Amino acid sequence: MWPSTSSYAPATAATHSFAFIGERLWLDFVNTERVARGGESLRDVDALVAWLELAGVLDVERAMGMRRRSREQPAGAQAALADAIRVRAALRVLAERGALSQQVRAETLGEINRVLGRSAGTRRLEQRGDGSFARSFVPTGDAFAGLVIPVVESAADSLIGGELARVRRCADPRCARVFYDSSRNGARRWCDMASCGNRAKAARFRKKAGA
Ligand SMILES: [Zn+2]
Repeated sequence: MWPSTSSYAPATAATHSFAFIGERLWLDFVNTERVARGGESLRDVDALVAWLELAGVLDVERAMGMRRRSREQPAGAQAALADAIRVRAALRVLAERGALSQQVRAETLGEINRVLGRSAGTRRLEQRGDGSFARSFVPTGDAFAGLVIPVVESAADSLIGGELARVRRCADPRCARVFYDSSRNGARRWCDMASCGNRAKAARFRKKAGA
């Protein structure tokens, strides 16, 4: 499955440690790097495939196929993971500094086109079980190389749509999460009100109380 920007609606799986708070596929992908909390959430290809499945990029069947393939071709799978992490690093720079720096935008363009350039496959429109429609992309040839194409497409959509000015990093300096601010007044500050937003509120309260 390949969600367009407007219909991006990842599944929220409480059992998983991935957070989908970015409002854009590529920003949620950047957030798989848990800088402040330590640790890498994309430790292996299975984790990458699980994330793509939760994000709605891979359907169950294709995710199973990718897992099988990664067991058969561990070296290719490892290379795909390394590449995904390289792409993620470039997208983080775009998220954090793209609005301010033409140079960053130009460099990211190179990275985006590097990934798009190797895309070989078929675009399809599919109907889901619930009757809704979704774009999908069925890779041919090196399926591993195609894994991050939808992520890169999502970043391309944000560039095309002029969205970078609304892409922010969480106001908590210890939190590295990024998100697209879709609020009407553009005043979203926190990745998540339940965690970072609440901590900030509690800190203000302590200060007021003179603690
Ligand atoms: Zn945060």
